[in-house]
Amino acid sequence: MHIIKALSLLVFVAFLLGCTCSSSDTVERIPYVEALIKQMTIEEKVGQTAQITLDVITKGGGHANYGGLQIDTAQINDALVKYHVGSVLNTAGNRALNVHTWHHLISSIQEVATNDTRLKIPVIYGIDAIHGATYTAEATMFPQQIAQAATWNRDLVYRIAKATALETRASNIPWNFSPVLDLGVDPRWARIWETFGEDTYLISEMGLEAIRGYQGKELNCSTRVAACLKHFIGYSTLASSGKDRTPAEISDISLREYHLPPFQFAVESGAASVMINSGLINGIPVHGSYDIITGLLKNELGFNGLVVTDWADIENLHNRDKVAPSHKEAIRLAFNAGIDMSMIPYNYVQYCEMLVELVKEGAVSMERLDDAVRRILNLKYKLGLFERPFVEPSLDAFSDAHKKIAYMAASEAITLLKNEKEILPLSKGTKILVAGPNANSMRTLNGGWSYSWQGEGVEEFTEDKNTILKAIEMKFGKRNVIHVPGVEYDFNGRTYRDEHNVNIEAAVNAARNVDVIVLCLGENSYTEKPGDLSDLMISENQEKLAIELAKTGKPVILVLNAGRPRLIRRFADDMSAILQTYLCGNYAGDALADILAGDVNPSGKLPYTYPMFSNSLVPYYHKHSEESESPEGVYNYEGGVYHQFSFGHGLSYTSFKYSNLAVSHVEFTNNDELLVSVDVENTGTVEGKEVVMLFASDLYASLAPDVKRLRRFDKIHLYPGETKSVTFSLSANDLSFINAQSKRVTEPGEFALKIANLYKTIKLIE
Ligand code: BGC
Repeated sequence: MHIIKALSLLVFVAFLLGCTCSSSDTVERIPYVEALIKQMTIEEKVGQTAQITLDVITKGGGHANYGGLQIDTAQINDALVKYHVGSVLNTAGNRALNVHTWHHLISSIQEVATNDTRLKIPVIYGIDAIHGATYTAEATMFPQQIAQAATWNRDLVYRIAKATALETRASNIPWNFSPVLDLGVDPRWARIWETFGEDTYLISEMGLEAIRGYQGKELNCSTRVAACLKHFIGYSTLASSGKDRTPAEISDISLREYHLPPFQFAVESGAASVMINSGLINGIPVHGSYDIITGLLKNELGFNGLVVTDWADIENLHNRDKVAPSHKEAIRLAFNAGIDMSMIPYNYVQYCEMLVELVKEGAVSMERLDDAVRRILNLKYKLGLFERPFVEPSLDAFSDAHKKIAYMAASEAITLLKNEKEILPLSKGTKILVAGPNANSMRTLNGGWSYSWQGEGVEEFTEDKNTILKAIEMKFGKRNVIHVPGVEYDFNGRTYRDEHNVNIEAAVNAARNVDVIVLCLGENSYTEKPGDLSDLMISENQEKLAIELAKTGKPVILVLNAGRPRLIRRFADDMSAILQTYLCGNYAGDALADILAGDVNPSGKLPYTYPMFSNSLVPYYHKHSEESESPEGVYNYEGGVYHQFSFGHGLSYTSFKYSNLAVSHVEFTNNDELLVSVDVENTGTVEGKEVVMLFASDLYASLAPDVKRLRRFDKIHLYPGETKSVTFSLSANDLSFINAQSKRVTEPGEFALKIANLYKTIKLIE
C-alpha cells in the first residue's frame, strides 16, 4: 500500500525516538479530564483502557432475566477497585435482560466505580444494539442493517437509530457498537446482513443517518448514545475466502475507493468511537497496524475519538496471527499502533499488569497512554457519565411509536423481485399453503444479535409477535391457510445449517387443496464465524422442496428470509413471484402479509447484487472487462456477469415512467454545481414509492473505470397519475475516483449520467 510506504519513514523515526507519533495534539483538552489525568497513577490509567465482559463480574447467569443474576462482589472489587477497569460490555449468560435487571446491574457497577475507587471515575458500558437494543428484553427489534438499506429511505434509518438510542440509554447503556460501515460485497460472508449493502455511497448515506440518530447533537442527555463505527477497515472483500476473519488482500486504491469513504464521512460527522477490523489486510493484522490506526484513521482522517479493539483481538495478535511472540508484545504492538481501549474481555489481570510493565519499561510511552486515557475520559465526560452515571428505569422509552417505525421499515424493505402475470397481490379469499422452514419462526425473521449473539433465544421473547404463518392466517383467515413445512430447521442442532423433519411429500400433497403456495425459504440465524459457509446454494432440502412444489402446477410465491443472497437459480424460473424479506425483525411477518394482500405496495430495492452462480460474485460496479466477451465474441462464454437480480432491483404493484432527464451544464468545470433533474410519473392504478437512482459512468479514465457508480438517490411517493420532478446536485468531486497514485481525482472528459432507462452525456473541461 502506498500509504504504508509513505508512512513507514515516519514510523521508523518514531521507533528510533522510542515513541509513536500520533494525532494526540488535536484531541480536545477538557479541563475536568486534564485535571483527572494529572492525578492518575500508571495503574489507574492502564485500567481505564481495559474493557471486560459482564460475565467476569457477575454470577448466576444463564437465566439472567429471572432474578438469578447477581454482581459478584469479590470480582467487581478486584476488577474495578484493584485493577481500575474502566469499561464493561455485553450481556451476561448470552441472553437479553429486562430493563430492571439492567438498571440493577449498571447502577451497582457505577456505585462501585464512583464510590469505592480513588478517583471515582464512572464505567463506560458498551453493547451491540445493532437493530434495536439487542440485549434488552422489552426492546423493539427493527430490521437489520441490510434491510434498512433496502428501504433506501434515509429518514427511516435515522428514526430507527434514534429509537434504538432511546431504548439503549433507557437500559442504562450509553455506548453502542454500531453502525457497521463495512462493505457488504461478498455474498458468502456471514455478516452481510449487518452491513448497509455493497455500495460505498449507499453505506455512507445510511451510515450518516444512523450516527445522527444515535448521537443527535448532544451526547450528554438520556436519549442518545455514542456510536461506534466498525470494523475499521477492509473487513469484507471479495479477495478473501468469504469466511469470517480470513485474510484479505486489498490494494491501497481499492481500500480508498470503496472501503474508506463511509468511515471518512462518519468521522467528519462527529462519530464518537471506532472499532478495529479483526482480520488481516495484506498479511498485516489491522490491530497491529500503526499505518491504519494512527496513520490513516487518527492522522489522515483526523479521528479524535476513542478506538476500541474487537473481541480479544490483542490476544489474537499472539495466539492467532502469530505476529507477536508473546501476549505482552501483542499489547505493545496494538497500543503503539493506536489502540485506546482493549476489549480484553476476560483476563484483565494479565492485560493490566503487562501494560503497566510496558509503560514502566518505556516500551509504551506515557504520552501514548495519556492520549488513550484522554480519548476515553473525554467520551465519558461528553456522555455526562460523571454527573449521571445511571438513570432511573422507565418503560416509557419502549413505545408503540417505535413499533410503528419497525413495521414501516419492514414494509419498505421487503423487496418484490419477481411478479409473473401479476400474481401478487392475492385476493382475500385465496386458499394458501404456507410451507418451508422459515414460515413459522421469529428467530429466522430476526437473525443474529437478537436477544442473544446467535439469535437462538428469540422465540422466548417474541410470543406476542407474528411469524409469517401467523400473520398470513390473520390476514387471509385461518380456514384459508394450511401449514405444512416440508423441511424444518433443527433449532437444537449443532450448527445453524441443521435441518430435519424433511417431508416434502406431505407438502406436495397439501398443495392439492390450495390456490397458491407461499414457500418460505432461507437460513436459520447465525453471525460471525459460526455463520461461515462453504456453498452459497440454498440448502439441498429446500431446493428440492421448491422444485417439487413447483411441479404441482400451483403458483409458488417464494419468500426469501435470509441474511445473504443464497443461490436459487435452479428453481427461480419456476417461481411465480419472489419476495426478499432479508432479516426484517419482529414485524416482518405483518409487513409481508400486508404486501401479499396488497394493503402495502412494496418499495424495497436490493442493496446488493443477487448472484446467480457461485463463481460469478461480481458487484454491480465491476470493470468492463468483467462483463464483455472477447471482441471477436469467440472465447470466454462463461466470462460474463450473470446476476439473478441486479443491485437496485425491486418491483412495485404500480408502474413508473421516467422522462425529461435534464442537466444544467453539458460542459462543466471543477467549480460548477451540476443540477440533474428527471420527471417520474405513477402510470399505474395504486399509490406507491419509487427510489430514483442516479448512476454515473466515467467513459474513459487513466485507471479502468467501473461500468457505473451510484452517485445519488431519493425515495419519493406518488399517487396514481401524479408526476414529480426530482433534482440532484452534483459537483465534479462526486464523479471522482482514486487514481494510480492513490489520489482522489476527477479527470477531464466525458461522463454518462443515467437515471432508469434515460441517459445524458456531460463533459468536464479544464
Ligand atoms: C464482533 C463485534 C462486536 C463485538 C462485541 C465481536 O465479536 O466482531 O462486531 O461489536 O464482538 O460484542
